[in-house]
Amino acid sequence: MGMKTQAEKDVHELNKTKGRLDSVGCGMCVAKWMQVTIHLQNGHTHSCHHPRTHKIPLDEIKKDPSALHNTWYKKHARKEMLTDARPSECDYCWNVEDNSDVFSDRILKSNEPWAKSFWDKIQHKKDNKNYLIDWRENVNPTYVEVVFSNACNFKCSYCAPHISTQWMNEIKDKGGYPTTTKFNSLGGLKHSQLMPIPHKEENPYVEAFWKWWPDLYQDLHTFRITGGEPLLSKDTFKVLDYIIKTDKPNKNLVLSVNTNMGAPDELMDKFIEKVKIITERNLVKDFQIFTSIDGWGTKSEYIRHGLNYRAFWKNCEKTLTKLTKPSLTFMVTYNALSVFNFDLFIEQLYLLKEKYNSVDRYTSNSVVADISYLRHPSHQSVRILPKVFQENIQSQVNLMHSIQEKGFTEKGDDVFSHMEMEKLQRIYDWCQGDIDEKSLKRNRYDFYQFFTEHDKRRKTNILGVFPEIKQFWEECSKIKKDEVV
Ligand code: SF4
Ligand code: SF4
Repeated sequence: MGMKTQAEKDVHELNKTKGRLDSVGCGMCVAKWMQVTIHLQNGHTHSCHHPRTHKIPLDEIKKDPSALHNTWYKKHARKEMLTDARPSECDYCWNVEDNSDVFSDRILKSNEPWAKSFWDKIQHKKDNKNYLIDWRENVNPTYVEVVFSNACNFKCSYCAPHISTQWMNEIKDKGGYPTTTKFNSLGGLKHSQLMPIPHKEENPYVEAFWKWWPDLYQDLHTFRITGGEPLLSKDTFKVLDYIIKTDKPNKNLVLSVNTNMGAPDELMDKFIEKVKIITERNLVKDFQIFTSIDGWGTKSEYIRHGLNYRAFWKNCEKTLTKLTKPSLTFMVTYNALSVFNFDLFIEQLYLLKEKYNSVDRYTSNSVVADISYLRHPSHQSVRILPKVFQENIQSQVNLMHSIQEKGFTEKGDDVFSHMEMEKLQRIYDWCQGDIDEKSLKRNRYDFYQFFTEHDKRRKTNILGVFPEIKQFWEECSKIKKDEVV
């Protein structure tokens, strides 16, 4: 027998985790206890991020602020997990487990470093009947993602009113979009109790968060602030200040903040200044900054309304220059309008990596792109495009490979990680799959309806920015509503 490769070791480890979970129950998953995303702007929570969010009852957080995570609703799902059942809200994982041989997130997440501290609790008690953990018990999660507010100065084409105040203002003023889905109309949000509390008003969920925070903070492995635009929320700065001032910093914390890199200069500078203090005094284990862009130049500005790509890039450079330890990740939501000049972004990313990747940062690959494809709204998915445009994606993957072969001029390190290239390749592969003609037609109809209205409302001009799509646009314009509904 030869030595095991790392990949074989990983599979072995995951199989062990699966065995341990399954011995508790077929639906057991640590993420239900240890991981949470909390949407404080509208009082919703879910564990993990796959199941739909549910409303947090106000009377529960009045009794105990940890009900931001430990709702009775969630406790019932935990009970099912401890009694060999599969909570139906986790169908994301059951689909994977029933239809393929790959490890589901239930296994992957339960094997993450932040899940480790929980394993002791699911040992059997001495009587060998009950677990050390009771399903009614309140726990502090170790991986927390939080939205403090939906305040945002952008209204990206694929975003939504409960996530961005700019979007909310527009929809309140002009209503939903005339797509077959009535894109972004408020009816659905109201029905699902997703309407946000205006960020200037008192918010009982944010209040509960701060009551819980001193206790929660000590147990955290990862804390991620997302939005809205977090730099527009005073609570983001309150977290940073807390960490700077506390006598008992949790030095094992991985802290991350998302930003659209388009906040006013004084907020950007204030943010950089505080992160500098936190990282230089070693008050956290790792600090990660996340931002988003889906193309380059005026095309990227069209996709992410509010973005000024020059200011964006200046802020990225400023961040990487002034902060010598944190990493910067570009989260790309690759969509139908990305294909036309994503190669320019790849080239810029290469230059940025060359300039700022450094062994002094927390992670050696410190400027990265995390490329995923846009699923919703489906009318903006790259799958609506004619094949000839989708071929651009393969050229972009090839471009990454050819840059990769050159390597860094001086250091000779990898430029793009395997994962970065693989994720773009997967998008191309995904486009090759079968497509249902009826939904394709409907999505193309909606694409035309959405951006026609977008141009009217926002005084933009899609064909001015994307002259490449002229013919496709005309074809979409000819689809009649009664053909698609
Ligand atoms: S079972 Fe899957 S969907 Fe449910 S919490 Fe775990 S990882 Fe998330
Ligand atoms: S910056 Fe983020 S929160 Fe704001 S509109 Fe864009 S995607 Fe939505």
